[in-house]
Order: sequence, then structure tokens, then C-alpha cells
Amino acid sequence: MTSLVVGGGVSGLVSAYFLAKSGHAVTLIERNFECGGLLRSFDYGEFGRFDYGAHNILELGIAELDDLFWSLLPEEDWQVTMTKGGQTRALTGLIYRQQLQKGSPFIDLRSHPKWSEYVAALFTHLNHTDDALLEWHDLTAQQYAECLFGAKITNEIIGPALQQLHKKPAYQLNAMVLFLTQFTRLVMFDEPLMQDLLATKSIAKRLSYPDQLNLPDSILNLRRSLYPRDYGIYRVIDALVKKCKAIGVDFLLGSEITDLKVLDSTVRNVRVESSEGVRIFDQPDVIFWTAGLMSLSKTLGLLGSEQWDAPASTVMSHFLLSKPLNAGELSFIYNYDFGSKIFRIDNYSQYCERAPRANGYPITVESLLYTPFEASRLRMDILQEMQSVGLLDGGTDVLFETTEQLQYGFPMLSQRNVQQMNRLRDSIDKCNVQNLQTLGILAKPGLFFESDVMVDTMKALKKWR
Ligand SMILES: Cc1cc2nc3c(=O)[nH]c(=O)nc-3n(C[C@H](O)[C@H](O)[C@H](O)COP(=O)(O)OP(=O)(O)OC[C@H]3O[C@@H](n4cnc5c(N)ncnc54)[C@H](O)[C@@H]3O)c2cc1C
Repeated sequence: MTSLVVGGGVSGLVSAYFLAKSGHAVTLIERNFECGGLLRSFDYGEFGRFDYGAHNILELGIAELDDLFWSLLPEEDWQVTMTKGGQTRALTGLIYRQQLQKGSPFIDLRSHPKWSEYVAALFTHLNHTDDALLEWHDLTAQQYAECLFGAKITNEIIGPALQQLHKKPAYQLNAMVLFLTQFTRLVMFDEPLMQDLLATKSIAKRLSYPDQLNLPDSILNLRRSLYPRDYGIYRVIDALVKKCKAIGVDFLLGSEITDLKVLDSTVRNVRVESSEGVRIFDQPDVIFWTAGLMSLSKTLGLLGSEQWDAPASTVMSHFLLSKPLNAGELSFIYNYDFGSKIFRIDNYSQYCERAPRANGYPITVESLLYTPFEASRLRMDILQEMQSVGLLDGGTDVLFETTEQLQYGFPMLSQRNVQQMNRLRDSIDKCNVQNLQTLGILAKPGLFFESDVMVDTMKALKKWR
């Protein structure tokens, strides 16, 4: 079998590996000159590497996939993170109403001046609603948040936070945004009461336990996550590329498919262009497309004159600090405060013990920006914000700082964009191309997180091996 894999992110690499292992002659086509997609790092020489934000590898209970990842580094070169058992934990916090919340990544309303009104509103809502949550894919964020919490909490708590992040009202956003950032639960009660309330399904689905260090066994997720002990997620990608090459995968880097000839519901002919020239692949048995819905639609001539809501620029500010971040055990910190320049802070030293370098502690601050920005001004604002919530200890110096804009970053999941993506998926399906498999981020409705992308990829591979 001759297979083409388009896109060298984690989904494409895993596809290429398993296809080659089961005897296919595989060529992987990647637009950039290195593989990894979002799992790469920037290299700043003496100040070391900084990842493209927060990425690690989650064990998924799919034996051959877990085994593949474990095999990429010697066992002692992995740092294993889990939620219980004396090992490092990957905990997430939140800056909300100018307070750093360490107990839960979900909005904590316990000290909100209108707490009792929100409790009353939630219970009134639950009395008048069916316990079953609606299928969310076609709903707006407003509709799904109302289904979870009722109108009052949606309008006063969830809506304004989404507006701050995405610069759009909740009724113009798709419900998926609620899952991407943690908006599907709230913290409303202290531990003893919450322990009792967990027995009530409709509440357990909507409210979060207030202390993530002390989760009851019944809701503990014991999946392990892996990160290289020596800092840099690129180590995983480089090892995967090496492993693919060792079993014969051919890599065409700096290359793109510019034409797919489809005849009788089958791709007959593929044209690949790179700076080195043109290559034609005749009669491929299968094409695994992991390079995004838009580029596939464009190649198939399916893109019309749709207007798309523009995404934010995903901007990464990297800092090397003379002292560790004053964040306790938090690895990641989100921020929903109005006017803030911080979307998420990645506190690398917390989940990678060898992340510190050059006498400093690296962090990346991710920003979602909708207007032009000046990099040094942005970093100054970020440092001030971190100082104001107590994340920087007195006397913390910045040893190194720089800002990068990602080539492509967080998608704009407005309802309009999501509906148009659904229409594109339908058009691709209608073409009924037998030897074309679409995979990877956003290939299906709601598919975003790396672990979900991996599960979907492994499912598709079953059919073709
Ligand atoms: C800003 C951001 C933050 C994220 N944070 C998290 C997180 O915290 N946790 C989590 O689980 N997931 C997170 N994700 C999602 C995660 O990054 C993805 O699930 C995962 O990287 C998907 O892998 P992929 O191989 O499908 O896509 P990608 O990594 O995007 O790889 C696609 C590859 O295709 C290549 N390509 C694109 N177009 C073409 C073309 N026309 N021809 C050839 N090659 C092409 C690209 O260069 C790239 O190498 C985040 C995503 C973003 C954007």
C-alpha cells in the first residue's frame, strides 16, 4: 500500500508510524521545515528552549499508543505527572476578580458579593430544568451555559468572561469555547457540603470540588501525563521522527499538496510542490489529511466566498525569572479578568524539574490579542499584572524576555465559523472520496485537545492497517 500523510503534527507522525509499521510505503508531507506543529519549541541559545505553550503527553489506555510514546525516551528520561500518589501534579489555577485561585481552575464564586443570589439562581434553574445536559455541538455558548447554570449566572458571570477572552458575546460563540477554557463548572460550596452534593448528579455535573489537591477518590482522574525530564516537548517529536525514519517513512519537508485529482470517488493523482520542485504521486492507496479542514477544502476547490470571523493573534511572551513564580503547585494559570493581557501562564518548572536554566525559571505567558501590540509594552503590562496578584516575589528580576506571535494559534470558535466549518465537513463528506481520511485538530466537531485527537487518529488507523 502507498500512503501519503499530510501534516507533520503529532497526529500525522503517529499516523505515519503505524501505517509504516503495518507495511505501507509512507510519505509524510509537511509545509514547515520541521515537524511537530504545535508541539515545538523556540530556541534562544544560552537562555534555552521555550515550548509553544503547554503541551504534554497523556496516557490514554490505548496500549500500542502509550507504548509508542514510552518507547521514545529511556524510562528515566520521562517525568511522570499524576493527580495522586506523591508525584508531581499538573494543577491548573485561575486569576479571577484580581485574585489568584489555587483550589480549582473553575470560577470560584464563594467569596463573590452576590454568592447567595447565584446559589438561589442555580437551584431555581435546576428545579425547572431536565437533568440531562443537551448535546452541545450546534448550540451557542449562551445556550449551553444557560442549560448548565441558568440565565442569571450566564449573563453575569460566564458571558462577561467569554467577552473578555474572545471579544464576542456568548450568543455569537459556539458552545465549544466553554470546554476549551474551563467554563463548564463553577465552585460554589466548601468541601464538606460539596462532598455530600456530589451524590446529586445534576450538581456533580455543574459544580467543581473546591480543592483540587484533595479530590475525593470518586472524582479523581488517575491518568498519567508524560513530559521529558530534560525540558522541551520537541524531544518527543524529534524521537518520533527518528523512529518513523527508521521504519522507512519518507519526509517531504517545506512541501505542500497543490492539487488532488479525484475521479470516481478516488484520489488518483497528487501534486506536491516544494522549493526543490514538483513531485507527482499516482494512485495513492490512502491519504491521511491532518493539516486542517481549510487547506483540504481549498485543495478540493470547496472554499467559496464565506466570510470568516478573524481569530485572535496567539502571542507568546517568554520570561526567564530570577525566582520561581509564586504559584504554589500550579503548572498552568488562566485569566478571565477584564482588560487583562494574560490568557494563560505556563509555569514550566512545576511540571519539569529540569526546566530552570541560566540561573533562572522559565515561564510563557500566552495572550489572545485582537489589536496590534507593541511587544515590550505587552511584556511590561504582563509583569505588572502578575505582580498585582502576587505571582512575582519581591526582588524578582527578569533575566531574559522575548515575544513571539504563533503562525497559527487559538481558533476563533464563533458560531458563524463553527457552522461554516460544519458545512465544509459536509461538502467533503459529499465528495465521498474513498481513499481520503481527515484527521487532526478540528477534523470533527469539537475535536481540539491533543488526547481527543489521538483517540480519533487511532480509531481511523484501525480501518487502514
Ligand atoms: C494555542 C493553542 C493551545 C493549545 N493548548 C492545548 C492544551 O493545553 N492541551 C491540549 O491537549 N491541547 C492543546 N491544544 C491543541 C493541540 O495543540 C492539538 O490537539 C494538537 O497539537 C493537534 O495535533 P495535530 O497534528 O492535529 O495538528 P498540528 O499540531 O496543528 O499539526 C498540523 C501540521 O500540519 C502542517 N500543515 C498545515 N497546513 C499544511 C499543508 N497545507 N500542507 C502540509 N502541511 C501542513 C502544520 O505545519 C503542522 O505541522 C492547543 C492548541 C492551540 C492552537
